[in-house]
Amino acid sequence: MQDKPKGAEIRQDFIDFFIEHGHTFVPSSSLVPGGDATLLFTNAGMVQFKDVFLGTDQRPYTRAVNAQKCLRVSGKHNDLDQVGRDNTHHTFFEMLGNWSFGDYYKKEAITWTWQLLTEVWKLPKDRLWAAYFKDELDEIPEDREAAEIWLEQPGFNPDHLLPFGRKDNFWEMADTGPCGPDAEIHFDRGPEFCNMADVPGHVCKVNGDCERFLEIWNNVFIQYNRLSPTELIPLEKTHVDTGMGFERIVSILQDVPSNYKTDLFMPLIQRVQELTGQTDAEREANLTPYRVIADHARATAFLIADGVVPGNIGRNYVCRMLVRRAARFGMKLDLHEPFMAKVARVVIDEYGEFYSELKRNEKTILDNLTREEKQFQKTVKAGLEHLDILLDELEKKGSQVLDGGEAFELYATHGLPLEITRDIAQEQGLDVDTVGFQKAMEAHRLASGAGKEFGEMGGEDVEVYTRLVNELREAHQLDNTGVTYTPYEPIREPLEILALIKDGQPVQTVEPGDTVEVLLPKTWFYVESGGQVSDMGQIVSADGKDWTIKVTALRKPAAGVIVHVGVVVKGQPAVGDLAFAQVDEDRRTQIMRNHTAMHLLHAALHEVLGKHAQQAGSLVAPDRLRFDFNHPQPMTREEILAVEAWVNKTILANYPLHIVQKPLQEAIEEGAMALFGEKYAAEVRTITIGDQAKLSYELCGGTHVDETGDICLFLITYEGSIAAGVRRIEAVTGWQAYQLARERMNILDEVDRFLGTAPNELVQKVHSSTDSLASAEKEIEKLRTQIVASAFDEKLQETEEINGVRVLKTILPDADMDALREMTDKFRQKYESGVALLASEQDGKPILIAAVTEDLVKRGLNAGSLVKQVAVVVGGGGGGRPTLAQAGGKDTSKLAEALDQVAVYIRENLK
Ligand SMILES: [Zn+2]
Ligand SMILES: [Zn+2]
Repeated sequence: MQDKPKGAEIRQDFIDFFIEHGHTFVPSSSLVPGGDATLLFTNAGMVQFKDVFLGTDQRPYTRAVNAQKCLRVSGKHNDLDQVGRDNTHHTFFEMLGNWSFGDYYKKEAITWTWQLLTEVWKLPKDRLWAAYFKDELDEIPEDREAAEIWLEQPGFNPDHLLPFGRKDNFWEMADTGPCGPDAEIHFDRGPEFCNMADVPGHVCKVNGDCERFLEIWNNVFIQYNRLSPTELIPLEKTHVDTGMGFERIVSILQDVPSNYKTDLFMPLIQRVQELTGQTDAEREANLTPYRVIADHARATAFLIADGVVPGNIGRNYVCRMLVRRAARFGMKLDLHEPFMAKVARVVIDEYGEFYSELKRNEKTILDNLTREEKQFQKTVKAGLEHLDILLDELEKKGSQVLDGGEAFELYATHGLPLEITRDIAQEQGLDVDTVGFQKAMEAHRLASGAGKEFGEMGGEDVEVYTRLVNELREAHQLDNTGVTYTPYEPIREPLEILALIKDGQPVQTVEPGDTVEVLLPKTWFYVESGGQVSDMGQIVSADGKDWTIKVTALRKPAAGVIVHVGVVVKGQPAVGDLAFAQVDEDRRTQIMRNHTAMHLLHAALHEVLGKHAQQAGSLVAPDRLRFDFNHPQPMTREEILAVEAWVNKTILANYPLHIVQKPLQEAIEEGAMALFGEKYAAEVRTITIGDQAKLSYELCGGTHVDETGDICLFLITYEGSIAAGVRRIEAVTGWQAYQLARERMNILDEVDRFLGTAPNELVQKVHSSTDSLASAEKEIEKLRTQIVASAFDEKLQETEEINGVRVLKTILPDADMDALREMTDKFRQKYESGVALLASEQDGKPILIAAVTEDLVKRGLNAGSLVKQVAVVVGGGGGGRPTLAQAGGKDTSKLAEALDQVAVYIRENLK
């Protein structure tokens, strides 16, 4: 180890050694795993061979060798927090591996491992230790075969062969599937490398977790297929899968105490040092930022080369986060200008020979890094200051964990990724609620929906617009603030189309039917804000080219950018064409009526209900307005009518509106209504209604009518609750109010015609109709009773004799219990001695009544027990006096059958 081999040479030694032994060199696959949706990034050498082991893919070779690019930013093997803080953790790393697909097996694999390490790389044999598999549960056979092969290696110290159990020496791809024992080789760096000597209970040995014994190479022997936790079956074909951490073997072969001291990292670290101008001693005192920048420069250069540019979600987010994290650590070294491209330049020089994608994508890599750093610089200062305040407050409260929602706000408004917030919090001994962050992010995504700034920014969206606007600024087609926005002043002159965006990409021209976003140097289309919806309208050719784009929405996809979203309905608009931007002015007028009416409604609620009726939400659309406010109980009808009347009186008084820009503080002192939680600039737009006495005074950016009379008419259509203590009113104005009134009058006209009354007699007529309906119902009831009674008179004739007793048993369909009782009286009046059992049906269920005259009670009959015996048949029961008893039941269909029990009862009980 006198002449230190270069990292690139070590990589090539490995590949050449296995090519000599019949292996095919297979280039590294992309960091983005092909066809594996479960994996964010390629994180091991075997990812591209997984399907071969699973038997679903075949290769033209049975022996392969590779050096694979890998990336890990989270998971059990790596924690981003540790990267840069120790000697061994990286986000990006390389894995060297040799592979046998049903070809050679343990003997060759172990022999070659030994040969490469001891003969080619000449590692001292007495420093090498081997580990093989021995099941601690004694269920899977011990790998004696591997153990014997280790012992056969020339110069191998038999005392350096150690058995280990499932955790260390049995490899599984997943809960089921290919698996097998593995053989590891460890290197003893010497007792001085033990970094856990002070840890109580530490035993300095292989797998003892300290930095003295390093696992350098793992040979996995795939020989089983796991079907279930307890079922292993031998594979027909056995495979070899090996992995050697490249950075680690280089650190050993270059005899340096840290991966970062190898020539894989030192050129990058030295480049950073040139930029900072620090001495070697200063560098050693600030190692963490140097390491983070070197690590992240490698990771981001390789990511961008594989097409993963900085962005908002998924893999793109990881790239963005790594650039920003490096930039933040750069600040610790006083690097405040973009520097990542300068470091990445060295990555390309050092690695581009072997990984040619770095050279091919050089410009993309450097441009993306610089653009991302610049974008980050715009917001990072405010973000870090805000975070400082939050962490101070946290410490004052004696709390340990920063709220996830606040961490998300830092990202959404200041571009501070969670990982940076967590870095900073942890530097102060605090933590961040990452679950809360994810929840807030998800909630934001859902709440913002389609067409909103953040929700649609997915992927590279924001990049496209930012780049576009920067280019337009450089060409002086846009000024520094971006698109000029004048929603209060119509623009009647022709405007040049600066850009057309289709499917997220700028295009030169679009066709009929295309959905397109149109960027103009200025616009007077209102963009949804403060509850007022966006304008609609059209953009038409102003230079005789005869094309039309129907505008259905507006959005602000990035700072300074407003685009008109629409569909080409005619012709072929192109970039550079002159156009008229035509807002649908009828629609806008209706929106303005509703907005001004809403200010009046707010004032009226204060007038009628009190000052507590503060705005809690609003919607101003062309067809209606919606106003949510604080009030503890439902409004009475009188209150609703009073509010409506107040607004209409103010409309009729035709007060002018005064719209004035003034300092926020002044407006607040004058009593303008501002919304809690709303962010206002230092200069605000104020809307005043009324002259001497200000009827309404609000801060508002919306569009309004000139005079209240323009609203025409205001009608409340709904009042209800939306949450505890919050009420909602919906209302219409202008033409919609007229239409609503007309519709209601039409209904009244129709009713009048039908009833033959004049409108002012209608209520009287409805009252009297209701009264006569009620008396008619009473009359019907009376008649029904009479009908039942006369029916009974006939039935009274139809008695029979059972054992000499006169018996009346009959069903009277419409009679209720009172009617039945009345009829038993009639029976007694007509016959001195006898038994009556009368049945009917009420609400779908049978009712029964039984009557027995006194003389028969003395002879052993009893109305109570009779009615019980009968009721049993219809699934019921009952009781009463010996002379009169009643019962209910369930099953009316058995009523006739039940009456047969009367004869049975009399025969059994009569004395
Ligand atoms: Zn140790
Ligand atoms: Zn307003």
